Amino acid sequence: MKIIKRQLKILIENFLTEGDDWLADDEDDLNLEPNLKDKVKKAFDLAKNKVISELKSSNTINQNISQEIIVNAIEIINKTHLHTTDVINIKFKGTKALAFHASYGDESGKNREVLHYNKIPEGVDVPESILSSMTNDPLNNPLIIVFSLYAQKASKTALSALLLHEIGHIKNSVIKALSDKSGTGPESNFNVDQVKAALRKDLVKGNKQQIAEYIIFHDKPARIGDSKAEKALVLRLAMYYQGLYEDPADDLGVEELAVRLSALKRNIGALEDFKSGKRDYQYFSKKYNTDVADIMLFVDEGTTLEAINKIVKLNKQFSKSVTV
Ligand SMILES: [Zn+2]
Repeated sequence: MKIIKRQLKILIENFLTEGDDWLADDEDDLNLEPNLKDKVKKAFDLAKNKVISELKSSNTINQNISQEIIVNAIEIINKTHLHTTDVINIKFKGTKALAFHASYGDESGKNREVLHYNKIPEGVDVPESILSSMTNDPLNNPLIIVFSLYAQKASKTALSALLLHEIGHIKNSVIKALSDKSGTGPESNFNVDQVKAALRKDLVKGNKQQIAEYIIFHDKPARIGDSKAEKALVLRLAMYYQGLYEDPADDLGVEELAVRLSALKRNIGALEDFKSGKRDYQYFSKKYNTDVADIMLFVDEGTTLEAINKIVKLNKQFSKSVTV
């Protein structure tokens, strides 16, 4: 692949802003792997199968979820389109992937520094065949876009965590859409109480700056390093956390925290490490993945696996909402 000047600028800016997040110092060649698409597809298939097997083993009685919704959700997840493409617009600077689904996206259209779109943004070249199927039948045509620039540098583990994250969004939004369709789930309560229960409460009263400041300067032992990129990350996560406590809760904040809690569920050793006193972001990021590290900034000290498992529990009694 030829790197055009604009892409190079994005690449350089990413290098400057992302620290060692996805462009390490010792990786300075710009050669795309010849089998990049295969690499992404492999990670995608593995992640898809993992999420589907988790869905299949759902405790339908405890989770108040009908077998029909599970079967339909699996069918739709299986239809997810995967598209690997180049970064061609500066606004995707540092973005690794995007997920699209019928019930998912920032319909208010506000730019909230989160990359959630309810339609494919300009500058992302999605093949016409995928676009038209998405337009004709959005429920049955989820899409995950992975940016090559990230994918080529990502380790298999990182790529797999990324795909699990994006398919996690698809899974949640499909179940949300299906439960809305069947009249069993008001959108406003989707996952809110379950996510709140698993996360710390000492940050509840702050705005996003105060929440971020608290984590950066007051948490002992320190959780986060001193780099600009790490501080920016904390601010973004603090925004999600603040959204959880808005009234009504901000769907996107809840959703971002929910997929990270799903990552923690798959890496339960991280919770044991946490309970033995580990707090450092980089420790969790290196030993597990960035989703796990992200959520460790917000996990409640008393959180149990049981509480985290409730992220997949439907709370019929309280709100009839569907949570996954
Ligand atoms: Zn996300």
